[in-house]
Amino acid sequence: MPEVTRRELLAARGPKNRVDPHRPHAFLVERELSAAGNLEDVATIFLTNKECPFSCVYCDLWKNTTDQRVQPGDIPAQIDYALSRLPPATTIKLYNSGNFFDPQAIPPQDFPAIIERVKSFQRVIVENHPSLSSRHTPCAVRRFRDDLGTELEIAMGLETVHPTVLPRLNKQMAVDDFRRAADFLRKQGIHVRAFVLLMPPFMLAGEAVHWAVRSVAAAIDAGATCTAVIPTRGGNGLMEQLAAQGEFNPPTLAMLEETLDASLALPGFLSGSARVFVDLWDLERLYTCSHCGPQRQQRLQQMNDTQQPIPKISCSCLTPDP
Ligand code: SF4
Ligand SMILES: [Zn+2]
Repeated sequence: MPEVTRRELLAARGPKNRVDPHRPHAFLVERELSAAGNLEDVATIFLTNKECPFSCVYCDLWKNTTDQRVQPGDIPAQIDYALSRLPPATTIKLYNSGNFFDPQAIPPQDFPAIIERVKSFQRVIVENHPSLSSRHTPCAVRRFRDDLGTELEIAMGLETVHPTVLPRLNKQMAVDDFRRAADFLRKQGIHVRAFVLLMPPFMLAGEAVHWAVRSVAAAIDAGATCTAVIPTRGGNGLMEQLAAQGEFNPPTLAMLEETLDASLALPGFLSGSARVFVDLWDLERLYTCSHCGPQRQQRLQQMNDTQQPIPKISCSCLTPDP
């Protein structure tokens, strides 16, 4: 039985943001270490489309989605809008706050027009739920890969391998589903990226780093060549209710640092066959000291960029009282 019903989840929400189906709700270019070991410019387009049908407890991505399916032609128009305003990049992420191969999200008849716009990039990265990456849509995934003709990477949420926390997140997925999907994708010559949550709801604070690192290790073991660790954030209404019940506490900056330090010591990273990034978006919310906060963020950025450990930042706020 899910811990939180969809009805409860919807009741806890605030309103969605106003979005335009003809415009992506955001787009940017940032640097990311590539599989080849180069810092490359990566364009990310946050596509506006219909809300994801899953109901993950921690998710706030619904805020920038529509209630109805967008019209054929809208997604290519959004890509045109962003690409005409962005500087050049070698890789493109088409992130749609849901599942790229959900026909209710991205109309499949738009795939040829989408491919036409992105096939000149060295790599195209889309996001998808594991169950929509293999079991239900294998033909669509294979066809898209064939027609694209450039490197395809699919990002999937593993979230956590904690045996009792994962089922409570309403992800409707077991760790084996992730493994099977990753295995299917690798056999199709498609790269796998994983998302791991640091300190999801229902996780004890003292175990958060341990399970985040174990989840990164499981993602590598399943064949992910890139794993992004995301500090779990509140903001979707339900998370605030869970926080009030003592079921969710936001992770700390120190936990994020420990997770990256320990992950980079995992065998996959020592052999150079995998990358792990910690998500630094809006990291300021985790600062507890204006002096060391920015320096610690800079250290994490450098470790993301090099995949090499760097000595910790010292600060009087981090020194325990004698
Ligand atoms: S599958 Fe992804 S987009 Fe959908 S509800 Fe879960 S976290 Fe949100
Ligand atoms: Zn400090």
